[in-house]
Amino acid sequence: MDTETPEFPIRVGGYRIDLLFQGYPGKSAHNGGLGWSTVALLRGHDRVILIDTGAIGIRTPLLHRLKQLGLAPTDITDVLLTHSHWDHVMNYPLFTAANLYIGKVDLDWANSGAADVYAVAEPYARELAREPRLSYLEVGSEVFPGIRVEAGPGHTPGHLIFILSGEDRDVVFVQDAAKNKAEMVSRDTDLTIDSARSRATIERIWALWSARAGNILVPGHDLPMILCDGEIVFLGRRQAGVIGLLGDSPEEQTLFPLTKP
Ligand SMILES: [Zn+2]
Repeated sequence: MDTETPEFPIRVGGYRIDLLFQGYPGKSAHNGGLGWSTVALLRGHDRVILIDTGAIGIRTPLLHRLKQLGLAPTDITDVLLTHSHWDHVMNYPLFTAANLYIGKVDLDWANSGAADVYAVAEPYARELAREPRLSYLEVGSEVFPGIRVEAGPGHTPGHLIFILSGEDRDVVFVQDAAKNKAEMVSRDTDLTIDSARSRATIERIWALWSARAGNILVPGHDLPMILCDGEIVFLGRRQAGVIGLLGDSPEEQTLFPLTKP
C-alpha cells in the first residue's frame, strides 16, 4: 500500500497541478453560504487549464496567485467548469483568451427557470451560454491528454467530474459532486437537488478514487485527500479564518480562525 502523501504542486500525467484555492467545508451561521470553493491550475501538454474559477470575492487574490506563478489572465488557455453554481463560475470573464467548457445539461438547467435551480448567478449563466468561446463537454470524452470527463449528477443535474490519469496515480476532481470529507464518509449530502443521485454519484466516486493506491480526490469544499491504508488523509494544511473589524478604527482587527486546533 502506498502511504506517501504528496504535496502541491503535484505532477501527474504530464501536468503540474497547483491548488490556487482550497475549499472550505462549512457555511456561515447567520449569513448564508460562504462559497469558499476549490480552484485548481493545471499546466502541461501546451495548455494552461483552470478547473473552476471560484466566487467573485476571490478575484483579487486569484489574480495575485496567478501572478505569483508568472501567469497573466490571458495565459489561461482553458477553463473547465464542473457545474453552474456562482461560487465556481463567476470569474470566467477574467480569462478572455480561454476556451470555456461546461456540461450542456447543467447550463441548460441553470438557464431553465425551473423551480429547483438554486445558487446560480443568472446573468453569468445567461452570458456563458451565449459565449462564442464556449464548448459543451461530452461525458466519456477525453477533453485534454489524460483528462477524462465523467458525469456526477445530484448536486446539480449536469455536474461533471474530471479524472486526470497519470502513470502512478489518478487525480479525481469531483468539486461539488462530493463537497467534503463528511459527504464522502456518510454518503449524505447537503445542498443537492437529488440526494439519491448524489449518493449513487458518491459511490461511483469512491470506486474511481480507490481504484489505485495513491489516487488523489479533490473535492469542491474541502482539502484534497488521499487514502492511506484505508484511512482518509488530507493533503496540506487547512487555512481559513475571518477578520472582524469590531472596534473603533479599521486598524483594530480580530482574527477568528475557522480551523480545528
Ligand atoms: Zn455547487
